[in-house]
Amino acid sequence: MKAKTKMTLQLLLACWVLLITTIVISCKKESSSTSTLRQDVDLIKNKDEISTLKDFLAKTFSTKKEEIKFDSTQQAFIIGNDAAMPIAVAKEHYKKSIAASGKNAQYKVLQQRRQIMMNNAAASNVTVWIDPAFSTEWKNATNTAIGHWNGLESAIKVILVADRTLAKIKITPFFQNNNVIATGSYPDAVGNPGPTIVVNTKFNSSILPKEEQRNTIIHEMGHCFGLTHTDGYNEGGTLIPGTPTSDPFSIMNAATNPNLILTGFSLYDIVAIDYFYPKSLPANISRFYRYVGNGEHFYTTNKNELGGGASGYAFEGFAGYIYTNQESGTVPLYRFYLRNGDHFYTTDPYEGIGDFGQGYGTYEGIAGYVYTSQVEGARPLYRYNSGQIFYSGEHFYTTNFGELGTGAGGYVYEGVAGYLR
Ligand SMILES: [Zn+2]
Repeated sequence: MKAKTKMTLQLLLACWVLLITTIVISCKKESSSTSTLRQDVDLIKNKDEISTLKDFLAKTFSTKKEEIKFDSTQQAFIIGNDAAMPIAVAKEHYKKSIAASGKNAQYKVLQQRRQIMMNNAAASNVTVWIDPAFSTEWKNATNTAIGHWNGLESAIKVILVADRTLAKIKITPFFQNNNVIATGSYPDAVGNPGPTIVVNTKFNSSILPKEEQRNTIIHEMGHCFGLTHTDGYNEGGTLIPGTPTSDPFSIMNAATNPNLILTGFSLYDIVAIDYFYPKSLPANISRFYRYVGNGEHFYTTNKNELGGGASGYAFEGFAGYIYTNQESGTVPLYRFYLRNGDHFYTTDPYEGIGDFGQGYGTYEGIAGYVYTSQVEGARPLYRYNSGQIFYSGEHFYTTNFGELGTGAGGYVYEGVAGYLR
């Protein structure tokens, strides 16, 4: 769900109403899931199967049972005011967990979070249909959103299809005079993407800038692919390794922020997506892993150096993709370890090697190869320093200009260190 403003109680109620409607739409048209529901009615021998499933879902989503609501009319669970899960789907998940954990361990649902992501085959062929009744604005938003997803070059490939019957995700319009822009659904138990995105057509571009229309579709597709809200503290979900507990630049935050219109995925969105749907990289390109600790930031292509975090360093995902061999148009990015305990990266041999003859630190080798100017598809690696001169302070590098912008928190922006792949 993507809401126009910060959540309020009123908004949550509005959200609820829209979600119920979402299920109406889903149930009406998805006859196959209705028959699945009927077939599975006797699956659970417990008298209070709703309560059993609520317990199960609460554990699966690491949330409180009270956060799981059941709408009896529509026969679906509402999780965290956002995702709608038909009871048939909940039962499939439940059945799988029982099968996986044995008779006496029916509530052992560790790692279930992973099970509601898409499987590889589904991820590689996500077909999307948008109702022709939508305005051109929303069709454009969908097209550009698909472009953003495919631009990640992750294991997720999204294809727009004109034939509704061929689509795994159907984007349908709905009008409601409230602040809920859209809702998306989570993947089903067998790893297909969530089947529905419902968009509130109240939000034309005079109310919602077209960048936010696009971001909304990117966001709802994120739900369909299994991502929860980055800022959804009470919604359950499991923190993805290498990502922080909050990220104001995440496209998966629940509400839009009129003061901060995102240009697309944040660094940590990319890290999170890569965790589940990793991009397959050519042999000469690696992730440029990022760590923080001991008062500094550290970057390496060799995950064996610090793994998921070691020696006082915490893993922070990766800054981007970097060449491990010199390619046409690239130069070495030299790595140094300064006397003050800071890792420093530069493409300028004089800034590094020349001055390092003065004993400011140790040369540690070539970190990777980068472009010195913008080529198509390359991402600038922005360089910051908290000190007055290169051998004082702490150097920080990011491809996410939003993190420190033109400088913040004592860090001065020093320009682009190089362009990553
Ligand atoms: Zn959402």
